[in-house]
Amino acid sequence: MSDQLSERINNLVPSATLEMAAKARELRASGKDIIGLSLGEPDFNTPDYIKDAAIQAVKDGYNSYTPVDGYVELKDAIITKFKRDNGLNYERAQIVVSTGAKQALYNVAQACLNQGDEVILPCPYWVSYSDIVKLSDGVPIEVKTSIDNNFKMTPEQLEAAITPKTKMLWYSSPCNPSGSIYSKEELRGLADVLKKYPKIIVVSDEIYEHINYGVTTHASMAAFEDMYDRTVTINGVAKAFAMTGWRIGYIGAPSYIARACNKLQGQVTSGANCIAQRAVITALLESPSRVQYMVDEFKNRRKLILELLNNIDGFKCNEPEGAFYVYPDVTAFFGKTFNGKTINNASDFAMYLLEEANVATVTGDAFGNGNSIRISYAASEEHIREAISRISDSVE
Ligand SMILES: *Cc1c(COP(=O)(O)O)cnc(C)c1O
Repeated sequence: MSDQLSERINNLVPSATLEMAAKARELRASGKDIIGLSLGEPDFNTPDYIKDAAIQAVKDGYNSYTPVDGYVELKDAIITKFKRDNGLNYERAQIVVSTGAKQALYNVAQACLNQGDEVILPCPYWVSYSDIVKLSDGVPIEVKTSIDNNFKMTPEQLEAAITPKTKMLWYSSPCNPSGSIYSKEELRGLADVLKKYPKIIVVSDEIYEHINYGVTTHASMAAFEDMYDRTVTINGVAKAFAMTGWRIGYIGAPSYIARACNKLQGQVTSGANCIAQRAVITALLESPSRVQYMVDEFKNRRKLILELLNNIDGFKCNEPEGAFYVYPDVTAFFGKTFNGKTINNASDFAMYLLEEANVATVTGDAFGNGNSIRISYAASEEHIREAISRISDSVE
């Protein structure tokens, strides 16, 4: 019956990370002891002070439609946060609250892209970027980076990728999946190229801003005066505040883009959940130091997983500076045969690890880079030890 469906939906591929999680659940249901290191989700609980704000909001009777672009008090909290953490000055008309950063990205794509517009995506990029661009009739232009350059795009690569059809540049820093962070100087290098192309809009996804291990200080593209008027800053509470299921993300943007996103959202969702919005006011107004304990724990696990992986022949790791993923190059395993199965690419390798080691990871192909797999270390130390030991045994 799929011929009854739209070409749009038939051409859309399912989210690889959600698909891997579903496969792992299936195997688990059939009795297999699967360790899941595939999902980008903190294994912490939402902090109590944020939960309490939500409970209070229920009691206070917050149950009506909210303004489409978010409660004014939440927009003001976001404005305070942008000023406090990023040195960015936004007004209410420049802020839109959405159902997760994912919807914020989708809104921006729908608002800005026409048929055939090109969007530059440094690879590896977050799994949904290319599909959101395609859904919006845009054309993803992948710029390959390598582990030797810490998976960062150089100004020369950016320049070479620009054509008369280039409409946007999208990236995340800290990067999901590589954990790389563009320093202020590196962003300035990219901005210097963009100076020559004043129409290109930049989408800077900063959702991992607070999950930073202190190697490189977080910087925002919009903080450069000459980039402010054409940069959309994306952020959200899912990762740093362990609030994935609450579904709140937001943008700070030029007001014409914010207005367009508001209009779209008004026809599609009517705005984000009211209780979650109230809770996020508290999350953002409290000091980010209150969630530092999670970052400290991720830092310990990062050290552990790097030590363990570097002991396995064939895994070549970069040192992630933020987020909670390692992105090892696994090309050393390509062409090898294990237990009668030949590994030809990263997808084969991730499938091999799922079936033979009972560990769920994600193929790098999902992120536009087929030399690596993504391993999440948002898991307990015990699970990390057991998972890497199984991986080690399975490739010995
Ligand atoms: C998780 C993630 C998102 C989506 O965040 P939600 O608020 O859960 O929709 C967006 N960008 C990146 C890079 C992510 O890792």
